[in-house]
Amino acid sequence: MAAMYWFRRDLRLHDNPCLLKACQQNDMLLLVVIEDWHAQSTTRWGYTRKGPHRLAFETQALEGLAQSLQARGSDLYQVVVTDVHDPVSAGVNALIDVAKRMGITTIYCEALFAPDEQREDAQIKNAGLTLIKTDQSALLRASELPFTIDKTPLMFTEFRKVVESTDLVPNAPHAAPQRLPTLPSVDGAMNALRLFRSSGTVALPEFDERSAFPYQRAPWTGAEAHALEHLVRYFGSDLPQTYKGTRNGMLGTDYSTKFSPWLAVGALSPRQIYAALVDHEQQFGANDDTYWIWFELLWREHFRLLMQRYGTRLFVRNGLAKQPQPLNTNLTDKKAQARLEHWIAGKTGQSFIDAGMCELAATGYLSNRMRQNVASYLVNDLEVDWRAGAAWFEHALIDYDVSSNQGNWAYIAGVGTDPRGGRRFNPAKQARDYDPENTYQKYWGTA
Ligand code: FAD
Repeated sequence: MAAMYWFRRDLRLHDNPCLLKACQQNDMLLLVVIEDWHAQSTTRWGYTRKGPHRLAFETQALEGLAQSLQARGSDLYQVVVTDVHDPVSAGVNALIDVAKRMGITTIYCEALFAPDEQREDAQIKNAGLTLIKTDQSALLRASELPFTIDKTPLMFTEFRKVVESTDLVPNAPHAAPQRLPTLPSVDGAMNALRLFRSSGTVALPEFDERSAFPYQRAPWTGAEAHALEHLVRYFGSDLPQTYKGTRNGMLGTDYSTKFSPWLAVGALSPRQIYAALVDHEQQFGANDDTYWIWFELLWREHFRLLMQRYGTRLFVRNGLAKQPQPLNTNLTDKKAQARLEHWIAGKTGQSFIDAGMCELAATGYLSNRMRQNVASYLVNDLEVDWRAGAAWFEHALIDYDVSSNQGNWAYIAGVGTDPRGGRRFNPAKQARDYDPENTYQKYWGTA
């Protein structure tokens, strides 16, 4: 009998143990992604969840995946979503329908922990199907951490120290399957499935050659092959040797690792990065700069665990705060909306902030330094609800990741895990410190 493998945020063949398991346990395997209607639905703030850059980058990742599957004698199908009445459940309902029509009773997929994905899992189980999941885009094995998920330390420093006090190291990444099981006949699910073919379906946004992550050009596309090429290129270079000193940069492709967009679509796993980091340290030497790459990956890990621990609480205005957050009662909804729109358009009048927002809109990527600054400005200076900013990042970023995004926004808004109760960045001082010659602001045309 055939089974189904459902690709979610793991658009890769390497280091995909759940896919390996599905290949080993089945003679016939249908490989699918769900047509992403939910992402096209409009949020309460007035924009879609997935903007043109993210859509284009993810389409590149899917295209790369389909080609790799074809090279191994299989192919990628897309589940067609017709009833979009409830955008969250529509995709999975269509998936369940396909499984039932084809007599499939087992679905394999990666385990995800945000509330929408948890709801999807529950729908599949409620439909009487067997769901086999693997948590495979984390750095560490959650079951071996010296605490249970509900006891994950709230503060990053405490979390890091606890992890580093153990001998825990990431698993070695798995090789990609050489061959894939035969595809079952899809005759029973005609019209509910189509072969994934990207050509012509998504228009690439205009290419901006100023981009710090020029994904419209090889070797920066979302495909797994380009992720692997970047991994080899980055760790084969001197860049990791100076990472800690350059990571607060804002211009060019080299100041930080630039792994995040591939991590977000799952074209790369953090274990692959760790393995390449260890190889680099053996070859070129380990120092504080190379250690800092591990340190930053731990931030990602911490936010993933906090999403598992707190779920929906990371989406409410009060976040993890114990006390209700004070609201500016003079700020009407209309005024807040106008401020939000100026921020999005890079027209706040604060040229450092506006430069960051212009970069984000033009390229779908933004440095960590600028993310912190623009987020703080929206929350602390414009006094707009942090969740509107998080939702704009969800729309705009090619590396959008639900745990890192909600976690970082909540942190800056003072309703997350910052022991100092939120971060207020002074944009004038930040500009003096990080853009003393106005180079960045001139680059983006705001100074
Ligand atoms: P590097 O500096 O090279 O870091 C290496 C890796 O470490 C990154 O790829 C990422 O996986 C991880 N990392 C680094 N900093 C952080 C951090 N603060 N939190 C979590 N992981 C981190 N990152 C996302 O991947 N997706 C998001 O949606 C996202 N939203 C953010 C929103 C705000 C308001 C802020 C302040 C930060 C956000 N970040 C997000 C974290 C960080 O800005 C990006 O991961 C980083 O800039 C990506 O570029 P890089 O891969 O070159 O990072």
